[in-house]
Amino acid sequence: MLYRDWDEAYLTRPPWDVGVPQPAFVALVKDGEIRPGRALDAGCGTGENAIMLARSGCTVAGIDVSPRAIGEAVTKAKAAGPHVHIDFMVGNALELDRYFGPGSFDTAIDSGLFHALADEERPVYARQVHRVLRPGGGYFMLCFSDQQPGEWGPRRVSRGEIERTFAPLFRINYIRDSHFLSNTRDRHPKAYLLSAARA
Ligand code: SAH
Repeated sequence: MLYRDWDEAYLTRPPWDVGVPQPAFVALVKDGEIRPGRALDAGCGTGENAIMLARSGCTVAGIDVSPRAIGEAVTKAKAAGPHVHIDFMVGNALELDRYFGPGSFDTAIDSGLFHALADEERPVYARQVHRVLRPGGGYFMLCFSDQQPGEWGPRRVSRGEIERTFAPLFRINYIRDSHFLSNTRDRHPKAYLLSAARA
């Protein structure tokens, strides 16, 4: 999808923009897998997950190609109060090294960005995330699963593809069956949750 199309998706409420943080990421914070530190939300959309991380004590940067999404995210963060510190920016997650130095983050999250990337973009993106995470830093990714029936929505991702893309650069802790919360016909499409540590 072209970057212009992503911005147009936010003219109305897109199916993924559910107005609350994704339960899978809330659980990672609750279980202490994501702890306070410097966190990046890649493809942050209107910022629900980033704001949740900031509330949990992280210093957060959120990046998205859609100026409309980032505009909404900034408005929500302001409404969340002065203790919520987030740097939201319009930018390309395939060029993270243009905005952030090596090892800038303890944690990176990805809620529905990886599955939206084209095949040839996926390894580029993995290298970019690897570069901006500190050694041992955590990468947590939620993507549409090949166990989800139907053709609608984003392309389904297999466990094998997650392994092939990330194992060269990360230690994979687990790839778990999970789900998205969504505004689509299926409210809980099947997802994989990747937990990995930067090698
Ligand atoms: N994480 C958000 C949005 C998921 S939809 C949420 O959970 O609600 C995928 C998002 O990735 C969209 O907001 C889209 O604008 C953004 N996106 C797509 N390609 C991108 C890229 N190359 N760099 C940064 N953001 C991108």
